[in-house]
Amino acid sequence: MQRRAILFSAPSGSGKTTIIKRLMEYFDCFEFSISATSRKPRQGEADGVDYYFLTPESFEEKVRQSLFLEWEEVYAGTCYGTLKSEIDRICGMGKVMIFDVDVNGGLNIKKFFGDDALAIFVMPPSIEVLEQRLRSRGTESEESILKRLSRSRKELDESPKFDVTIVNDDLDKAVEETRRIIENFIGNKQ
Ligand code: ADP
Ligand code: 5GP
Repeated sequence: MQRRAILFSAPSGSGKTTIIKRLMEYFDCFEFSISATSRKPRQGEADGVDYYFLTPESFEEKVRQSLFLEWEEVYAGTCYGTLKSEIDRICGMGKVMIFDVDVNGGLNIKKFFGDDALAIFVMPPSIEVLEQRLRSRGTESEESILKRLSRSRKELDESPKFDVTIVNDDLDKAVEETRRIIENFIGNKQ
């Protein structure tokens, strides 16, 4: 069975988690790669489901032990990374790996998997809409919103490096367009 990876990257608040959740209901062959993070869980998030929530010390220890395929300090003092054990877990199940990672992480994973990966950039309709979505999600402090917006501007410039860009304006349309692109990718790999 061939390894296949689909990765979603975007500025925070663009809607990648929402799109991934919708696609996971449609594609039985998908398995989400659970990242590790040193941030605290948000309300409703569970350890081993949304993330592996680690202390900063435990995250650093895993970095030292070279247990990550890639990792980033996405926001000052907060690290996120893909554990190599996740790749083994999902490949062992014979499923398609789904990643929700920041833009640098996405480009690193694409480099690692090459043609076995489809790199999708989720583009918000505008910075203003991105800000509204981040605020209406209601999960971030003002400081965290400002950190995320300031990083977004740089991340948007990286979109041409991805295989495809999906503009997430109307959610149903974005999901449908992504579904078609993925079916084409998976079909070509069988
Ligand atoms: P990300 O995972 O990229 O940080 P989320 O999926 O958490 O983004 O989406 C951010 C917020 O925007 C959420 O409250 C989500 O419900 C909302 N959202 C996502 N896509 C759309 C859309 N197309 N139109 C309006 N709101 C959206
Ligand atoms: P959040 O705190 O909103 O869940 O995630 C913040 C950012 O970290 C998002 O852009 C998300 O895609 C990214 N992220 C989550 N997991 C990983 C990972 O394993 N590696 C990298 N590089 N980024 C990640």
